[in-house]
Amino acid sequence: MPEWNEYRIAIPRDGERMNNVSQLVEVHHVVHPPAARAILDHGSIRAGIVHDESRMNQTRHAVIWLSANQWQHGSLYGTVQFTFPWLQLIAGKHFYWVEAIRYQNPAYRILITDKDLGSLKFLTPYDPSVDRGPLRERNGNWYWNSRDTSEFMVDGDLDLSHCIEFKGVQHKRNGCRLYGPGCSERNNSAFVTGGRMLAYLLASGNHALDPALRIQTEGLSRSLSPSVDQGVSGIWFDLVTADAARFDGEVRQRERSVPIVRGALALLGAGRPYEARELVAQLNDETVFRAALTAIVNDHFGIDDWRLIS
Ligand SMILES: [Zn+2]
Repeated sequence: MPEWNEYRIAIPRDGERMNNVSQLVEVHHVVHPPAARAILDHGSIRAGIVHDESRMNQTRHAVIWLSANQWQHGSLYGTVQFTFPWLQLIAGKHFYWVEAIRYQNPAYRILITDKDLGSLKFLTPYDPSVDRGPLRERNGNWYWNSRDTSEFMVDGDLDLSHCIEFKGVQHKRNGCRLYGPGCSERNNSAFVTGGRMLAYLLASGNHALDPALRIQTEGLSRSLSPSVDQGVSGIWFDLVTADAARFDGEVRQRERSVPIVRGALALLGAGRPYEARELVAQLNDETVFRAALTAIVNDHFGIDDWRLIS
């Protein structure tokens, strides 16, 4: 009996709902802010050698990790999430069953590659349209076992031009796979983290995620993606609301307010909110701050019609 048998799913019939099966549309890569900043600077998620107890650690094969899971009680892997469309990711690729790991939430691992890895005997070729495991395909629709943890390893770097969503997510409160119980991110709000990552992009003029941030939601008359609106709300909360901004300075002119706010965004993006707030305090009032922030967002995307949601 194949190892994946324990994780198998049935494909739902039309209109049928199954509580351990979901349609597979997108997958996510979650990291902490320092790793996220490195990814943004590089413009892609870089593949790395597998170090954990995986069968893959016998090879020098470099992979990136993606999962379809969204964690109601927070992620074990960090607070910043990059999302990619499944169909684009797997086009023309082969699948190999790697293993299942018996964590508290069992994880099944499938390798996605454009190479023929038949020579690696610890891998088992897996055909999602034939094999009855945790990942299945029928008539172009994909399904995954959403009761357990999906871990997809993709060999090769993943360019951010394919990313379709970028946002902050909640960290698991009582655990971190990378930093253990000492992780400083565990109690951070997803809202604030999303704001700080957007601040990093805006301040540094990094355009790696512009394709994702330009995706508009049908029916919403907004000129940029909801990630931008949420991120800017996070920035506003962090710099104005959270610590009751003082705005006791003299600065009113655009030529001075924009560089000050851009500097505050750089500090915020680097995780230094207290100093960012000190800079913003040099502005004369909230209206000056709003105008400068609006100008920075429009300037970044080369548009002029984006406004803060009031
Ligand atoms: Zn952590």
